[in-house]
Amino acid sequence: MNTAMGTERWVRTAAERVAADAERLTRLDAAIGDGDHGHNLERGFTAAVAALPGDAPPGKVLVAAGRALVSKTGGASGPLYGTALRRAGKALGDTDEIDAAALATALRAALDGVTELGRAAQGDKTMVDALAPAVAAFERARDDGGDLAACARAAADAAERGAEATVPLQARKGRASYLGERSKGHMDPGAASTALLLRALADTVS
Ligand code: ADP
Ligand code: MG
Ligand code: MG
Repeated sequence: MNTAMGTERWVRTAAERVAADAERLTRLDAAIGDGDHGHNLERGFTAAVAALPGDAPPGKVLVAAGRALVSKTGGASGPLYGTALRRAGKALGDTDEIDAAALATALRAALDGVTELGRAAQGDKTMVDALAPAVAAFERARDDGGDLAACARAAADAAERGAEATVPLQARKGRASYLGERSKGHMDPGAASTALLLRALADTVS
């Protein structure tokens, strides 16, 4: 992916997709949470687009977007996604060219940031259920010699499967966990938004 342009394009595409899907994400959250996830993210990504630094390396673009997400997204997902983007940006450092290896490192750093902050494991019915398999799939595709686009597609596919797989689970983290057994039978909204963000990434780099 060529430089900051690609990273910026991902932030803009993500913002558009979040806005287009805000109602669906909020409906998912209404079923097992407090019904604000789509609108939280829409506000956060609008702020992230506004905070894009213009001419800067990709890592700086992600750090700026992450900072905006932390400060403008309400709810649990704001600090989690904000941390993910900031960690990914820091992992990229000052590099201008993002290849599959660099993005693998950045995605792994994002996942580590989310789990350090939120303490959710896979199977707890959170965004980690989409992000963790996505990172693993990205790494596998890269080990198999896949280029950036192939790796990102594998990650997006795995995230979508991971989000689907949250439906029967009982939530053990976040608001949905307050529902106990009644959280079963619904897709986790954060897992759904993670799948959306990774699909936006795959579409941006291909
Ligand atoms: P809130 O629950 O504060 O209203 P959102 O609705 O924006 O925040 O986000 C809810 C999503 O955040 C959940 O669907 C879940 O995926 C994610 N989430 C909540 N707590 C955690 C956690 N501890 N670790 C990882 N993800 C979490
Ligand atoms: Mg909510
Ligand atoms: Mg809320």
